[in-house]
Amino acid sequence: MYNARNHSNWTWILFLGFIALSVADIRFAMLGLLCMILPVYHAIRGRGRIHCANYCPRGSFLTRTLGKFSMKASMPSFMKTNAFRNGFLILIFAIFGTNIYLSGGDISRIATGLFSLVIATTLLGLTMGIFYRERSWCTICPMGHSSNLIARARERK
Ligand code: SF4
Repeated sequence: MYNARNHSNWTWILFLGFIALSVADIRFAMLGLLCMILPVYHAIRGRGRIHCANYCPRGSFLTRTLGKFSMKASMPSFMKTNAFRNGFLILIFAIFGTNIYLSGGDISRIATGLFSLVIATTLLGLTMGIFYRERSWCTICPMGHSSNLIARARERK
């Protein structure tokens, strides 16, 4: 079984670094693609949601930021359904795909769209984390859900 050290106590620094670099030069926002690729890569390699548990900078950021402020209420149960997660995944990828299509291949425009998506979903994650548990966002996160779907498909083989 794959064994990895847990780095989630410090990777929030990478998330803040990503924000700072992107503000300095929006093209750095393309680094956000790593946060889309790595969870899926690990899941395809049979490591399940190891990215979420051990590495994810945004997950680490949510834990770090909201640990003391979260009201820790239960999320509405509809948000935990596969139908909701699938719909949200499709919505986010549709927004991402439309942004790429409309960019005309301009890296700065793709990066701006990606950065806007990261900021919008992070604000949603922070809002959810204040009312519900600090990592509630991870219940509906499209990349976490994608990793889950891949891991389950591998188990069925
Ligand atoms: S569910 Fe999404 S935000 Fe949460 S740890 Fe996984 S990839 Fe990161």
